[in-house]
Amino acid sequence: MTEIAYIGLGSNIGDRRKTFDAALLTLDRADGISVEAVSRYIETEPIGQPDQDRFLNAAVKLEVDITARRLLKLCQSIEEQHGRQRSEDIVWGPRTLDLDILLFGSLICDEHDLIVPHPHLPTRRFVLGPLAEIAPNAIHPVLNLTIGELNERVLASENREYSPSVSCSSSKP
Ligand code: ADP
Ligand code: MG
Repeated sequence: MTEIAYIGLGSNIGDRRKTFDAALLTLDRADGISVEAVSRYIETEPIGQPDQDRFLNAAVKLEVDITARRLLKLCQSIEEQHGRQRSEDIVWGPRTLDLDILLFGSLICDEHDLIVPHPHLPTRRFVLGPLAEIAPNAIHPVLNLTIGELNERVLASENREYSPSVSCSSSKP
């Protein structure tokens, strides 16, 4: 049985576009996987460790007839092909390529090495933004909200954070 899965891509070292293009080609050529849609590649600011280069982020829609665990292994081997050295990575530090399984059909999985939907999906604009471009109506099976709705929520909460205080915005004399 085939499933629709979504993967998030991130990179902030080397030729990021070339790395994404090559990773997508490898995914599409793999047995049991076809690439159905790709978001724009967007530039984002690093989080966690701010003292590093800007990231490129994107999301991809796949039709798969392999398991989520097999897809994870494939993603990790593609990361390694692109020079990612997991053991030396700092958490949220620089990386040549990061491939995260965001959604895998309606699968809910909470194991030590595989959590689906991806735990950061509901809160990270750089993950939700590209995903909302290609899958606004996909459902987050735990929250029962669409990706479009989750994206709106994150954007709204950021607007609240940055909006000026009432006293500054008052136009009364
Ligand atoms: P991160 O993506 O959080 O910055 P890593 O790419 O180094 O960090 O991944 C750390 C671990 O996260 C991996 O060893 C992998 O087993 C685990 N992991 C858990 N759930 C997922 C998922 N949905 N997609 C990708 N990796 C996952
Ligand atoms: Mg990862």
